[in-house]
Amino acid sequence: MSGRIKRIGVLTSGGDNPGLNACIRAVVRTSISRGAEIFGIRRGFDGLIKGDMDAMDSRSVSNIIRRGGTILSTARCPEFFTEEGRLKALKVLRENEIDGIVVIGGNGSLMGAFELHKLGFPVIGVPGTIDNDVNGTDISIGVDTALNTIIEAIDKIKDTASSHNRTFLIETMGRSSGYLALSSGIAGGAEMVLIPEVETSFDEIVDTVRNSYKKGKSHCIIVVAEGWKPGTKELAEKINEIGKEYEFSVRVTQLGHVQRGGDASAFDRILATKLGAAAAEALISGKSGEIVGILGSDITFTPLEEAISYEKQIDKKLYALAEIMAK
Ligand code: ATP
Repeated sequence: MSGRIKRIGVLTSGGDNPGLNACIRAVVRTSISRGAEIFGIRRGFDGLIKGDMDAMDSRSVSNIIRRGGTILSTARCPEFFTEEGRLKALKVLRENEIDGIVVIGGNGSLMGAFELHKLGFPVIGVPGTIDNDVNGTDISIGVDTALNTIIEAIDKIKDTASSHNRTFLIETMGRSSGYLALSSGIAGGAEMVLIPEVETSFDEIVDTVRNSYKKGKSHCIIVVAEGWKPGTKELAEKINEIGKEYEFSVRVTQLGHVQRGGDASAFDRILATKLGAAAAEALISGKSGEIVGILGSDITFTPLEEAISYEKQIDKKLYALAEIMAK
């Protein structure tokens, strides 16, 4: 262990997702194995500002590897956007003699982590968000489980859609990212995917619905990312208006928060364990201001400043593949 980092803090921030607990467990057990003390900070940056933290040991994280949610709780914390809030957090960290922290969360949380690093406090970020919009990693913790939840829903909706020759709009989460919609559209065999990153005209959508039936399909499944404009409800109203003429109508299913919950998949448990362990190791070895991720099959580190500086791009080849598969 480096001379400097003897006491580590860990927090989860922003939206929750399956795999956060597996990651906390990895941070805790790696820190302990390297002879560091480990403190769990509750409710993200809010708990940090308020000094809401407790020492953890190996048993504090027993039997949580599979569980969704986060045993530390999470929060959105407006106060952390202010310099005053961040200085309060720094004071709490110093008072509790914490030498470095691991921040697990999405883009926003990693921006917060970078602010702490800029104040000279050692911090390592771990990408945990179902949106998969974090740079410096191919995939974030929680994405795989959310995808499995979505495709289970698509499969079920397809059964009923086929029985009634129906068209369904299935809305997925993802904020301004279309990753979940695109990937679940491919895995669920959707007829169309609507994502914020690709412009699609209303005429194209109506053509897809009409052509699906003309081609002999028994249903038409369109996966819509929540960030797609003008929005799922508005699209349904417009299609239903036009559909009167062609005798079709659409039903809408908003999957909502069900996508965030549930036991973590095997992939997420392993990813979270690898990233959590690497984050604790990195902090102890003196790294700071970086995000740990997986690129290809390698565990990598990217400066937080770089990771948060641009919007993650969608893989256009994957979109083209979804179009071919929908034929
Ligand atoms: P998800 O992707 O699941 O929504 P997230 O981490 O992106 O998670 P946000 O609500 O964007 O979620 O951010 C979580 C918290 O991180 C915020 O409430 C705030 O406390 C902190 N945060 C976000 N952006 C910044 C910033 N620019 N500066 C300081 N703190 C920030």
